[in-house]
Amino acid sequence: MKTYKDLSPSPRTIMTPGPVEVDPRVLRAMSFPILGQFDPEFTALMNETMEMLRTVFYTENHWAYPIDGTSRSGIEAVLTSLIEPGDTVLVPIYGRFGHLLVEISERCGAEVTTLEQEWGKVFDPAQIIQQIRKHPPTILALVHGETSTGCMQPLEEIGKACRELDVLLVVDAVATLGGTKVAVDEWQLDAVIGGTQKCLSIPSGMAPITYNQRVADKIAKRKKVERGLRTAEADTALTGRAIQSNYFDLSQLQDYWSPVRLNHHTEATSMLYALREGLRIVLEEGLEARFQRHKRHERALVAGLTQMGLSLFGDPHCKMPMVTCVLIPDKVDGESVRQMLLHQFGIEIASSFGPLQGKIWRIGTMGYSCNQKNVLHLLGALEATLLRHQVPIHPGLAVQAALDVYEQEQR
Ligand SMILES: *Cc1c(COP(=O)(O)O)cnc(C)c1O
Repeated sequence: MKTYKDLSPSPRTIMTPGPVEVDPRVLRAMSFPILGQFDPEFTALMNETMEMLRTVFYTENHWAYPIDGTSRSGIEAVLTSLIEPGDTVLVPIYGRFGHLLVEISERCGAEVTTLEQEWGKVFDPAQIIQQIRKHPPTILALVHGETSTGCMQPLEEIGKACRELDVLLVVDAVATLGGTKVAVDEWQLDAVIGGTQKCLSIPSGMAPITYNQRVADKIAKRKKVERGLRTAEADTALTGRAIQSNYFDLSQLQDYWSPVRLNHHTEATSMLYALREGLRIVLEEGLEARFQRHKRHERALVAGLTQMGLSLFGDPHCKMPMVTCVLIPDKVDGESVRQMLLHQFGIEIASSFGPLQGKIWRIGTMGYSCNQKNVLHLLGALEATLLRHQVPIHPGLAVQAALDVYEQEQR
């Protein structure tokens, strides 16, 4: 009989834009015994998770809960529940994940229009606002932090304009939540999707979302009740087209995440433990302190890379603190460098997609992976690897530059 070896993943230093290293406390939380999903002990944990999510999203929204599935399940749940066939959706695209918003919106039957910005830049908010004034769409869908380019779109003015024009603003904050401020209420964002395996440092498998009453109202008009669960009052007052998906029907999920506790799916028990523990860690550190930590290690990393003689990709004015994109030097095989980092040093960095494939490396400093040891190890290992590839860099400076940043900040 064929036998399979014991599972023993190699220890890795993960410096990608997700998935990233997970706090051991979260891993431990995932190993606790299962509770039934309607056990009051478990529903209390669900409620606490919702409460902590509101804090992390800076919102008073009633609705803040996770969708079971990876981050794109959150995006799909929001768009599927909101978009009725014929609704218009505007998607300003400045990287790969903008295209994902287009794809999902089209599948939902929306009439999608796009604006496109060169990868490595973001939009001047005025450009988007001018477009929505000219042709107000039903929904504006936008990425906050584009992990594919390392750029972050300012949202505040856009949120204000959307509210004035009665446009619903849906934001993919998958990569930014927990690493920089995502001020849902202050910026007037109507629905926001976060991610677990990025700055929250929880394994992939859940997508925290939040949305306000404007969104809940549109969804309520489309509510469909599963046959075996119908009560007499259900099924009336529906004016919208029913939501096509059962799994991603936010109106059904609301009944599951509220005291009604109507059965929907079986909550992903161990993932909920993980999310709750991950959020507890975020709140213990403090949101502001956590954002400062992401900026501190970004400063050290950037100082090291530039002293080494490497150039960064993208407009520095809109750089995401948790993703740093590096131009692969001329005539260097970027994949060979990545392979050597992984196999000789146990460090993983990311390549890129589409127009940037083979042109940049992407280095993540997210959540639990965002620490001094990782930054110093990466700089030392990258220097050695590039020397090994005969790249003419300035040896000996990178780690020193990062240490300078750390020492200055300790003073
Ligand atoms: C990672 C990421 C996603 C997709 O997340 P999955 O968990 O892989 O589904 C979507 N949007 C952005 C901006 C991301 O960085």
